[in-house]
Amino acid sequence: MPKKISIFGSTGSIGTQTLEVVNQYNDLFEIDTLTTNTQIDLLYDQILKFNPKLVIINDENSYIEFQKNYNVSCKIQTGRQSLIDYSKNITCDLLVSSLVGFAGVEPTLNAINCGVDVALANKETLVSAGSIITKAAKDKNVNIYAIDSEHNAILQCLIGEDSKYIEKLILTASGGPFRKVDIGDLQNVSLKDALNHPNWSMGSKITIDSATMMNKGLELIEAFWLFDINPSQLDVVIHPQSIIHSMVQFRDGSVKAQLGLPDMRVPISFALTYPKRYNLDVPRLDLTQISKLDFYKPDLKKFKCLQLAIEILQNSPEKAVILNAANEIAVMNFLKEKIKFIDIPIVIENLLDRINLNYHQNLENLIEIDNFTRIETQKFINNLK
Ligand code: MG
Repeated sequence: MPKKISIFGSTGSIGTQTLEVVNQYNDLFEIDTLTTNTQIDLLYDQILKFNPKLVIINDENSYIEFQKNYNVSCKIQTGRQSLIDYSKNITCDLLVSSLVGFAGVEPTLNAINCGVDVALANKETLVSAGSIITKAAKDKNVNIYAIDSEHNAILQCLIGEDSKYIEKLILTASGGPFRKVDIGDLQNVSLKDALNHPNWSMGSKITIDSATMMNKGLELIEAFWLFDINPSQLDVVIHPQSIIHSMVQFRDGSVKAQLGLPDMRVPISFALTYPKRYNLDVPRLDLTQISKLDFYKPDLKKFKCLQLAIEILQNSPEKAVILNAANEIAVMNFLKEKIKFIDIPIVIENLLDRINLNYHQNLENLIEIDNFTRIETQKFINNLK
């Protein structure tokens, strides 16, 4: 029987690469549901190729446009509520959760509550709602397979290992496009510079997060929830070639690493087929072509966003919902060129200081805090000039 898969965010970077993998393993999987926000042309191509039962187009104008231009046999729905309703009754075997940002939290949690395993690309879900998500997954006996290359690497290194022997998880980071830029020159970097990631091809939000290194901060918090590990056992090392995707150090001093070319289809494949592996047609790693691998300590003064995330992780991981929301709004404003690159950590730090958290560990409360933080962050940015 083929495994039934739904993809939330099928037209984004992870969604399209997931479908590339599915295409290579065509008799293993069957596509149940695909969703997009506005990318209806790409969605149409995906419908023709993968024959889903249902598609959800989040944006209503795009939905109207789609109805005008295309005629398809599957069911079509529109609006955020349709996605929420569907996720509350989801019956597939695996959900690929690749929505961007906090928007992924509620539908992912609903799917977990339905007992559906999740291949998680949306790290903001664990960052903002880690305690709720991990508790629900435990209660419902649901597996969460991280698609994020670092966490996927750690998962691979931990096969056959007892987690009590872990001494340290070491996340590698490329260092992004500004690894070699002096701290003083960061104030002059442009949006175009920040979008120019040296190794990975990704969506715009995560590419900016990589440039600020907030991405690595979010990944530390993600690892904290995913692997149930003490923050003091988490480490980051800059590795510009992005060949080692992460490492696990054990208590006998042994270190296991997972290597490969930076290609998201590999971790996606592993998340889809875990614990099995199938032939995947992707370029192979040739270490003689790489010849050397470099490693550095991250500069936390220069990458203030990473520092902020580490502080949150050490002091109050539940406050990461504020860190995440402030970051999403700051990045959105940077992408619209409303603020400068160096303003991003200033905005986040300010919001972390000014918002007091009254946290009750339920989704409604979390959505409230997230909303409030977004509004306050935008207000703060509007008053920056
Ligand atoms: Mg990553």
